[in-house]
Amino acid sequence: MSSLYLLLGGNLGNRETFLQQARERLAAAVGSITACSKLYETAAWGKTDQPAFLNQVLALQTNLLPEQVLHRIQGIELDLGRERIEHWGARVIDIDILFYNDLVLQTQRLTIPHPQLQNRRFTLMPLAEIAPNLVHPVLQQTIAKLLVICDDPLKVSVYQE
Ligand code: AMP
Repeated sequence: MSSLYLLLGGNLGNRETFLQQARERLAAAVGSITACSKLYETAAWGKTDQPAFLNQVLALQTNLLPEQVLHRIQGIELDLGRERIEHWGARVIDIDILFYNDLVLQTQRLTIPHPQLQNRRFTLMPLAEIAPNLVHPVLQQTIAKLLVICDDPLKVSVYQE
């Protein structure tokens, strides 16, 4: 069994419903979910004339290899009707691999840990909620520490359901 952290995000349609459907499909196709952060809301990153994002981080236990996880999550993204209209554009659901055990991997298709996680408050805040003491295998800092030193100016708040 491997320990996997995923970031879910979406900013179109009924955002909570898409996140819930993504969780159900991940539990069926990737592995059991052992922790879920609250939902967090953030103004869109890199492009401000679009709806705010909802994000959530999940911890899972999986038997799949990283490439297999990527394949399954891309299937779920497609299934949930993702439409790639433009780079940084709106989408119903985006699923990123943040960590896979303490694996450090860089291939054409996959970079683990996710290369932007330390730069994005919308990733660090939900991750710090469920795994504050997890140590980033490259940066050798805890998630709690990475959040303290993160200089992302975008405001992230707990979403009131
Ligand atoms: P995005 O547009 O952000 O959803 O990026 C999707 C592409 O990023 C896919 O084609 C993946 O092959 C690639 N990718 C690289 N590293 C990761 C990662 N850690 N998690 C998810 N996708 C990744």
